[in-house]
Amino acid sequence: MANILLTGAAGFIGSHLATELTAHGHFVLGIDNFCTGRSINLDGLKTNKDFDFLEHDISKPFPIACPVSRMKFDWVMHFASPASPPKYFAIPIETMLVNGEGTRHLLDFAHASRAKFFYSSTSEVYGDPLVHPQTESYWGNVNPIGVRSIYDEGKRYGEAITYAYHRAKKLDVRVIRIFNTYGPKMDPEDGRVVTNLLMQAIRGQEFTIYGDGKQTRSFQYVSDLIEGVIRLMDVDYNQPVNLGNPNEFTILELAKEIEKLTGKALQMTFRPLPSDDPKQRKPDITTAQRLLNWEPRVQLAEGLKLTHEYFAKI
Ligand code: UDP
Repeated sequence: MANILLTGAAGFIGSHLATELTAHGHFVLGIDNFCTGRSINLDGLKTNKDFDFLEHDISKPFPIACPVSRMKFDWVMHFASPASPPKYFAIPIETMLVNGEGTRHLLDFAHASRAKFFYSSTSEVYGDPLVHPQTESYWGNVNPIGVRSIYDEGKRYGEAITYAYHRAKKLDVRVIRIFNTYGPKMDPEDGRVVTNLLMQAIRGQEFTIYGDGKQTRSFQYVSDLIEGVIRLMDVDYNQPVNLGNPNEFTILELAKEIEKLTGKALQMTFRPLPSDDPKQRKPDITTAQRLLNWEPRVQLAEGLKLTHEYFAKI
């Protein structure tokens, strides 16, 4: 059993991860400042004796008086960050700080605690990729001053400082690059494509398609991601690992899947493509397959059905 400090515990991915870690017999201290996380995501965890929670903005260090500053952990897992484009456009400085200052404070904390450090990075480090599919060795094609740079460069800085601590202080680190992930517990108003289109289908509104809808994404169901994270914790490997589902869809194909699922044919309204919106994205998952014997199991139709059930219920 490990003692784990997990940031972003009230987020979509963090709350699933906290639940799964406690199911594996670990104790989790979750941290979140609710800037995009939601307290509803903690509902099932509140009665869990292996879970505790602290509301804190991780871009600031723990106050000396805070009991956490004296606690010892085996793992510090940093999953706190806005991740949906409209959300991080709204709070650009906070997004940079949680991945910049936040990562630095947590690295210091992990080092002092002799804990291992787990950083959740993103496929956005590849920017608008010129290599397809994206392997971990690809350096990416990122606009350093564009609207998405707060997230893309924030995460690239997060990775860079993680490897600085790994090299200079011998910190034992794990880094994952998460490709588009969806599932229950997403904020129905987060503005991402899966949530927007599912909610539009539920409400009988027109589908909003940005650009011509021919850009691609590869959608991973959340349980597959969590399985990859848990497996990586047990493996002695410090390099970045892509975690995503390599089945690639255009946004128009995603809309068709949702029409099939809900049995409703909806009108489409085309809107301008946001700046620097990547044209294609698909993970090369050879590293995860080889290292973790891992592969996504939930395909799009099934994952959309489970997510649709969640949105319809709430
Ligand atoms: N998108 C869309 N309609 C929407 C929301 C998003 O066509 O209502 C597009 C968006 O421009 C992008 C893709 O869907 O090309 C995925 O967007 P999302 O915000 O889910 O995540 P991203 O992969 O861009 O971070």
